[in-house]
Amino acid sequence: MTSSDVARKPYDSDREETKGLLSEDIHEESWKADEELEDRGWPRKRIVGVAAAFIGLLITGVFARTFLLDSPTHPNLLFHGHDVLRSNGTHDFKRTVLIVSIDGLRADYLDRGLTPHLLDISKQGLRAKALVPIFPTLTFPNHWALMTGLYAESHGIVGNNFWDPKTRSEFHYNQIKSAWEPSWWLGEPMWETAGKSGIITANLMWPGPPKTTSGAAASYFVPWKDKVPLKEKLDQLIAWIDLPFDERPQLLMAYEPSLDQAGHKAGPMSALVNKTLTQVDVFAKDLHTALVARNLTEIVDVVFVSDHGMTDTSHPELIYMDDILGNEYDKIEHEDGWPAMGLRFSADANVTHCLELLHAAAAASSGKFHVFTHETMPTRFHFTQHERIAPIYVVPQIGYVLTSEAEGDVGMSKGNHGYDNTAAEMHAMFVAHGPFSQVVKLLHSQRRSLLTRPNKGWHSTSDDTYVMDPFENVQVYSLVMRLLGVDAVAPTNGSAAFWDKYF
Ligand SMILES: [Zn+2]
Repeated sequence: MTSSDVARKPYDSDREETKGLLSEDIHEESWKADEELEDRGWPRKRIVGVAAAFIGLLITGVFARTFLLDSPTHPNLLFHGHDVLRSNGTHDFKRTVLIVSIDGLRADYLDRGLTPHLLDISKQGLRAKALVPIFPTLTFPNHWALMTGLYAESHGIVGNNFWDPKTRSEFHYNQIKSAWEPSWWLGEPMWETAGKSGIITANLMWPGPPKTTSGAAASYFVPWKDKVPLKEKLDQLIAWIDLPFDERPQLLMAYEPSLDQAGHKAGPMSALVNKTLTQVDVFAKDLHTALVARNLTEIVDVVFVSDHGMTDTSHPELIYMDDILGNEYDKIEHEDGWPAMGLRFSADANVTHCLELLHAAAAASSGKFHVFTHETMPTRFHFTQHERIAPIYVVPQIGYVLTSEAEGDVGMSKGNHGYDNTAAEMHAMFVAHGPFSQVVKLLHSQRRSLLTRPNKGWHSTSDDTYVMDPFENVQVYSLVMRLLGVDAVAPTNGSAAFWDKYF
């Protein structure tokens, strides 16, 4: 089987992708009322009430300031490391982080009115407008970016399938002997970093290898298996959390692919996606409820993420690569990725001519697709600095599909991803709840109450919900490490200061 057979294979959902802050408006209104007090000639009783509210505000402000800004003594900020324990009433716990990936949960799925529980969790905790995936917006590159904080050019998983010219071998996400080979996976995943600090970790099917090249493995590992009911996954996570202190993992990672599978099969606007979305929302509720029942919401930070979004591909406009390349089409030796296409031509091909043909066709297409070399690749893709990245990349816009006359649209899925990571349809989810979000929430309301400029990273989308601005998923590694209090971290493509204002 050649690489092109794999890349163009009709989509098989069974095999594919084994992947608010509450405002304290009362404070502002108190200020307003105070300013308007005399003009309105308010009765004495009301003046006393407002004065009391004003004093209350000052006390609250001073309290919050002392608590959060002037001295870093908020108990949640100090709640990490080996010696700091917190009781849930019956047992001692170390700070614990649970990161759950719901594959293919597009950021705006949360606005469909079908995820009341995820929204409720985000209102108690926090949410981002979007989590921006790395390019290519595919499952394996993005799950490894979430684990390592690295772009594809740094972590080496440059597609779900790709050719490595150095080792003359091909990576296949869906073949265990390939995908579990540690040498493909560069960078240091969060479970390895945490493990080095003596933290017990648990990995429930997170896309990636069981071991890295250093031999590091999660303390507990459940390998990928398709069609595992959400209830079973919930039971496993809770069983880990219920372990005795000395055996209990502090970092748990879990993966759920059903929403992505539904999106590919029926498209993002389908009833199947909506039904599956409801199911993963109930899973989020059940997980939250289980933590509440154990009095763990001030001990466990739960972070719900997704790897990428999904776009409708049920009526695509087809772009025929063989029409563009003519006789040279047959000289494509390796074809990486999907729906973008990384091309490596055989030694007897006239690559300069191929590139001219592709550039001419792209220019004539008025933006339906773009052709990039390492020299012209958009900087925002961070997709040049690795020999595994094919020298020529053809990237279709959303709505367009690269194919050949022979293949046409046979076997195409009704939904897909892998497109430009700036497209809103490709954007992913970030919802967090737990001790961290409580600090952020207090910090935000405290800043509002002092009438300083509202925290620039937050926006009001409704009267009672605040969400973070979109941010890149390469920042997630640093967040988890800070929550766990791990200082000896690996270098990432995130910004070291990104989370500073929250800690
Ligand atoms: Zn995915």
